[in-house]
Amino acid sequence: MVATTPDIRSWCAGRGGPYVLLTTTSAPPPLGVPVLASKALSTSLLAASRRPALRRVVVGTPVTRRVVDRFVAGEALPAALDAVRALAADGIAVTLDHLGEDVTDRSEAQRTRDAYLRLLEGLAPLGLGRRAEVSVKLSAFGQALPVGGEDVAAELVRPVVEAATAQGTTVTLDMEDSQTVDSTLGVLAGLRRDHPSTGAVLQAMLHRTEDDARALAVPGSRVRLVKGAYREPASAAHQEKSAVDTAYARCLDVLLRGGGYPMAGTHDPAMIARVLDLVAETGRAPDSYEFQLLYGIRTDEQVRLARAGHTVRAYVPYGADWYGYFMRRLAERPANLQFFLRSLATRS
Ligand SMILES: Cc1cc2nc3c(=O)[nH]c(=O)nc-3n(C[C@H](O)[C@H](O)[C@H](O)COP(=O)(O)OP(=O)(O)OC[C@H]3O[C@@H](n4cnc5c(N)ncnc54)[C@H](O)[C@@H]3O)c2cc1C
Repeated sequence: MVATTPDIRSWCAGRGGPYVLLTTTSAPPPLGVPVLASKALSTSLLAASRRPALRRVVVGTPVTRRVVDRFVAGEALPAALDAVRALAADGIAVTLDHLGEDVTDRSEAQRTRDAYLRLLEGLAPLGLGRRAEVSVKLSAFGQALPVGGEDVAAELVRPVVEAATAQGTTVTLDMEDSQTVDSTLGVLAGLRRDHPSTGAVLQAMLHRTEDDARALAVPGSRVRLVKGAYREPASAAHQEKSAVDTAYARCLDVLLRGGGYPMAGTHDPAMIARVLDLVAETGRAPDSYEFQLLYGIRTDEQVRLARAGHTVRAYVPYGADWYGYFMRRLAERPANLQFFLRSLATRS
């Protein structure tokens, strides 16, 4: 658990650990909640996102719900479809993520497949076509199973891709930690043989990514470029934010000057401006690239870009298994964590 004020500390004490204890290092943010906004904190939160004991504490806390609602469209499909309708009314396309990762057996992976098939069935009557696609994490399809995980994931994700193609839309394979990149790109290559618009995600923080971007910047290839949300060792990834930003800008160059369909997955004003410069420089048509932002984050900017004539897609997560997603959002931005801590401090 994350504790700051004495009030929160005593609240946590009544609920058992483990805790990450934060101390003040800078001017107190609003409501006097002191937060250590540092790489160490981000690292702790990312580690926590994989710890079952902490998961139980955070998920079992009613007040967490209010904060989760800001980032997650709901626990069930109807709530997610309501969010899709509201975004569509604002001219914003969507990619839906049925939350869940790291399944431990084949039957759980089959449940993921079934949830996505139900999701696609739910989307069909909205008639949004390509403006409503889905994003999948292969770990939720069994990729990490000890025996034949990659094959299980490839087999179980295929019906989802087929169903998406049949209703005129597509699937993007999210990218998880660096150990999974080769496997995910391998599954992607297999899917693209029959379903060429299946999308990939590349994480600029990884040293290998500029090469991957070059390989994927080819006609028909949809690539979402993100900075990367996982804790990675220095051997695999840039550790400093400035280096990640520089790498992101370089990969944008590769993708926007290349022949594919780039999808800039970022909230960063500097990177959004870089995309706009590259679009102007290369003369890309408005339907040959898109911006992607997470549900609930910089919503004004989403609408502004859409009104300016750009394709904007919100990544809309929903489902009961929101813990890992939620912890990554807390880890990547101190303001998100402050919001969470304020909710704890003001709980009624
Ligand atoms: C559509 C989408 C899909 C993604 N898919 C994946 C994936 O498959 N795999 C993966 O590893 N990661 C994924 N991510 C997460 C990504 O890797 C980053 O962790 C996340 O996007 C934060 O990086 P950033 O580019 O927004 O910039 P950051 O470096 O986090 O922020 C830069 C600047 O952006 C602005 N900003 C950022 N967040 C906010 C906010 N909440 N409110 C206001 N301003 C803000 C601020 O000005 C900030 O200084 C995805 C992100 C998006 C948007």
